[in-house]
Amino acid sequence: MADEASSSPAEEQECHQIEGEAELFYGAESGWVEARTSCEHLSSLSSDLLHVPTPDTPCNRCHHPTENWLCLCCKDVLCSRFVNKHMLEHYQETKHCLALSYSDLSVWCFSCDAYLDAQVILQLRSVYETTHLLKFGVPPPFRTVECWQICDSRMNGSSSGC
Ligand SMILES: [Zn+2]
Ligand SMILES: [Zn+2]
Ligand SMILES: [Zn+2]
Repeated sequence: MADEASSSPAEEQECHQIEGEAELFYGAESGWVEARTSCEHLSSLSSDLLHVPTPDTPCNRCHHPTENWLCLCCKDVLCSRFVNKHMLEHYQETKHCLALSYSDLSVWCFSCDAYLDAQVILQLRSVYETTHLLKFGVPPPFRTVECWQICDSRMNGSSSGC
């Protein structure tokens, strides 16, 4: 009888461990966001994205020095939601929804509430290349974009124009 009682805590512990792992796995899976390959707000992009501020430009408002965001509509450089939320405020004030992260060069659309795939979306590729060159000194390595390009322009239809 005493033996039975002493064996159960060990079993319980094992169960908890497995549960913990499952939770972790589930959490990671549900937290994964895939970058979108289309966005209906691309018409608000700045017409001159060949000339952009360098990745070490401080936040225009609080002068936070690194890992800021570039507004792709007016080329303002503002800090992230983990600093003083100036890019988020900028979006709320101006409705400029497209921003590029100078920390990892990902493009975020505030209106879509999603990351955009800058290598697939034609309108974003040049600014992605430009900022990659500014940040790393070399153009980005290209994955097989030809196929994507065709799919993308088909999906976008009239909005992409090319
Ligand atoms: Zn700031
Ligand atoms: Zn802006
Ligand atoms: Zn969008």
